[in-house]
Amino acid sequence: MDDRDRGFDLEGRLGDLEANDLKRALAPADRVAERGYFAAPSGGDLPVLEADEALVFASNNYLGLTDDQRIQDAARQAAATVGTGAGASRLVTGDTLVHRDLERQLAETKGTDRALAFSSGYAANVGTIAALSPDVIFSDEYNHASIVDGCRLSGADIVVYDHCDAASLRSKLEARADRPEAETESWLIVTDSVFSMDGTVAPLEAICDAAEAVGAWVMVDEAHATGLYAKGGGVVQAEGLADRVQIQLGTLSKTLASQGGYVAGSDALIECLINDARSFVFSTGLNPPAAAAASEALHVARHGSARERLWENVSHLRDGLESMGFTVLGDSQILPVMVGDRGDALALADAIRDRNVVAPAIRPPTVPEGTSRIRVAPMATHDTDDVVACLEAFQAAGQEVGLL
Ligand code: PMP
Repeated sequence: MDDRDRGFDLEGRLGDLEANDLKRALAPADRVAERGYFAAPSGGDLPVLEADEALVFASNNYLGLTDDQRIQDAARQAAATVGTGAGASRLVTGDTLVHRDLERQLAETKGTDRALAFSSGYAANVGTIAALSPDVIFSDEYNHASIVDGCRLSGADIVVYDHCDAASLRSKLEARADRPEAETESWLIVTDSVFSMDGTVAPLEAICDAAEAVGAWVMVDEAHATGLYAKGGGVVQAEGLADRVQIQLGTLSKTLASQGGYVAGSDALIECLINDARSFVFSTGLNPPAAAAASEALHVARHGSARERLWENVSHLRDGLESMGFTVLGDSQILPVMVGDRGDALALADAIRDRNVVAPAIRPPTVPEGTSRIRVAPMATHDTDDVVACLEAFQAAGQEVGLL
């Protein structure tokens, strides 16, 4: 390994922008329209689709916060006072205090200088990777499709390493470092923190060690971890790596019970994204009720007790499923029950559904051939009876289809 710096000269890029007089900036906070959004909430029932009552063990709404009155009120208040839409790109007239409040809270939670809200996690990944336009990207083989698409759009050379395997990453880095062109290249390592179909957690500390040995940057997608790990900060925070991971990114649509995405990092990174991330610059600002809901959800996730309840449900379910004889993958809040054959997985999902429990069969091409599984995702709002009902459904369904 060598000690070359293969990171990104963001200060230099910003300097070039100043020189060309092209720099785009968000309005200073004191010029953002001073419209408070804490007006009195109005009541009213939400229309819902008619459906059979069923226990859903399939949602990414891990803390069940989409149902939380405080979060619904925050969205209502934002709609009533700021409006139902941003009306334009943040760089034109779409910037509001609601966005600033969300970004301030995200940066604080993530331990970074700043954060920037995007209209989705997909847009955050694609826009960020393409804006950085690294020469080479090292990407976990199971990374989310939005990372894969960002890598393609960036035009970088893409080197795929084995899933959650720091030794595989190191050997790919070493092989690439031996090539003469490596002298001047910028390198980015990108990984999900919690992998949604496998329930695995990336070995972030070993990835940071490998990155630092060659001067590469690390970007972590915390879509399935934000709001859950380390008082809401994600796996990067849980492992004390905020100073070693240059880009933390995620969605507002899972634990944060809303819609949208974010990037958290240094001042220079956020300035670069404001200027160069096309999915930020050329897209209407995140919708204000969504921003307000996510802010409130982040607060509730960090300071409430729902996280503990979720982890209790996770261990109750994992223990129960394993003691029946099922193989449960991963080591996160997502519990993939391995089946193997796609037909068996579909039969098991149907038999569970017949017992009023919803958990989907995940099969190729989403996962490799021969590894079909049922993805079980408990929520903090499940009570003990719900968890027991889910376990009973698995036991009876497993016997019915001949898997137990
Ligand atoms: N990254 C990961 C790891 C995801 O699971 C998802 C959503 N499935 C996204 C990014 C995209 O987020 P969004 O739904 O906000 O576009």
